[in-house]
Amino acid sequence: MLDQEIKSQLQEYLKLLENDIVIKASVGSDDVSKEVDELVNEITSMSDKISIEQGSFDRTPSFSINRKGEDSGVIFAGVPLGHEFTSLVLALLQVSGRAPKVDEATIEQIKKLEGPLHFETYVSLSCQKCPDVVQALNIMSVVHPEITHTMVEGSAFKEEVESKDVMAVPSVYLNGEQFVDGRQTLESILEELGSSVDISELNEKEPYDVLVVGGGPAGASAAIYAARKGIRTGIVAERFGGQVQDTLGIENFITTKYTEGPKLVANLEEHVNDYDVDIMNSMRAKSLEKKDFFELELENGAMLKSKTLVLSTGARWRNIGVPGEAEFKNKGVAYCPHCDGPIFEGKEVAVIGGGNSGVEAAIDLAGIVKHVTVLEFLPELKADSVLQDRLHSLPNVTVITNARTSEIYGSDKVEGLRYVDRESEEEIDIALAGVFVQIGLVPNTEWLEGTLERNKFGEIIVDERGTTSIPGVFAAGDCTNSAYKQIIISMGSGATAALGAFDHLIRN
Ligand SMILES: Cc1cc2nc3c(=O)[nH]c(=O)nc-3n(C[C@H](O)[C@H](O)[C@H](O)COP(=O)(O)OP(=O)(O)OC[C@H]3O[C@@H](n4cnc5c(N)ncnc54)[C@H](O)[C@@H]3O)c2cc1C
Repeated sequence: MLDQEIKSQLQEYLKLLENDIVIKASVGSDDVSKEVDELVNEITSMSDKISIEQGSFDRTPSFSINRKGEDSGVIFAGVPLGHEFTSLVLALLQVSGRAPKVDEATIEQIKKLEGPLHFETYVSLSCQKCPDVVQALNIMSVVHPEITHTMVEGSAFKEEVESKDVMAVPSVYLNGEQFVDGRQTLESILEELGSSVDISELNEKEPYDVLVVGGGPAGASAAIYAARKGIRTGIVAERFGGQVQDTLGIENFITTKYTEGPKLVANLEEHVNDYDVDIMNSMRAKSLEKKDFFELELENGAMLKSKTLVLSTGARWRNIGVPGEAEFKNKGVAYCPHCDGPIFEGKEVAVIGGGNSGVEAAIDLAGIVKHVTVLEFLPELKADSVLQDRLHSLPNVTVITNARTSEIYGSDKVEGLRYVDRESEEEIDIALAGVFVQIGLVPNTEWLEGTLERNKFGEIIVDERGTTSIPGVFAAGDCTNSAYKQIIISMGSGATAALGAFDHLIRN
């Protein structure tokens, strides 16, 4: 079942097991059960520290991972391969006793939670944001005796997914009730549970020489360049990795013919960790003020001080802003085709937007869903011709140009979309189950309103050194007015901004 490369990787990881592990499995005679059975037996055969027992769970096929004589509460229902393979490996290691990469304060926060808390997370194996959630909840389960977590692989439990109307993954249930949807971090889950961070430690931090805000390619690159100058460097990021976390294949990162977003993010993190950089993840900047130092206020109430700043807060998906979009978000309105595409298997969907991301999304979706309608506002698609050619070669795609989407409607989930033909002004309805909005990005700069100069798109205006309108504040990447938005360009501008900040420090 596992290919040779994965097997040899797994073999290396299993050498790190610290204590004996018991896998309890409940399998039937269906095809998925056979896969689960094969997977757990293969894993068991690879280490003397792992044994297998018969288990009994609410769902079949499922298996739990436990320390001998203990119940960890970590359960996988369905096959955790694809993007969830890492979750499986980490669960094996953490249950065996290897400490998760989480700071002591967070571990204490988890221990203080009041149980019992039974989490269930619905995932798809092609979803890149799902593993973060699964891994966070598995850690909570390992740390706290009264917390359990079951990862439910949607395609193995289609009826359950349909009955619960799960239309976006990851979708997390707590004690049987819908809890949170979409991307989460351990910190955001703790916040959702009402557990607050101890900010006194943050407030007591010495001022930085360079404080980077944002942990995408631009921020990571800025942090490395600053730290290499031997100056005190910090990086505060809502989600380390940024948009790259949501990217599947990357073929234009020069020197690497092909890589995938999460892999590039892991490499970025490893590289930043090689230097003396104070990484503060899952924290959001709220406002910026200049006093003796620059003072960066965070959403959690903490205040960080620095002599210079590099702003690299990137961008996020743009909303279309029509009635129904907000109402049906995660109930048929989606933004991430890789994550949520599999939920619409065999159904009719639309993609709004005929640029590169819209057409790429439509090509991906056409391989999964019954039919894709691409709606473009302009008289022609704007995507590269190579993508358009691929799109037009697909039998289950219809392209409608000159279409202004006016409404997304339904009852408790999306049932259709209305658009206006801009030539005839006729209103046309299309019945469908999902709408993927792909109309570009907006810079994450609202929090800087009134602080520094931005253009009409909200992008921070920078010069060739990354200098903004405030001396000592630099900016880089997709949040700036750079002409093109790409990983390699963001990394270059991150380096420029860090060098600009260093120059500023030695001149002032
Ligand atoms: C689906 C998709 C596919 C793509 N494919 C490619 C590709 O193949 N090749 C390519 O070169 N480019 C690709 N791109 C573009 C590329 O990902 C971006 O250009 C690049 O990630 C921009 O880097 P950045 O660091 O400027 O911003 P981002 O990657 O957006 O990172 C921003 C960072 O800032 C953080 N942040 C935001 N607001 C705050 C706040 N208030 N406080 C603290 N932190 C905050 C975020 O959490 C994140 O850490 C793709 C983009 C998408 C969405």
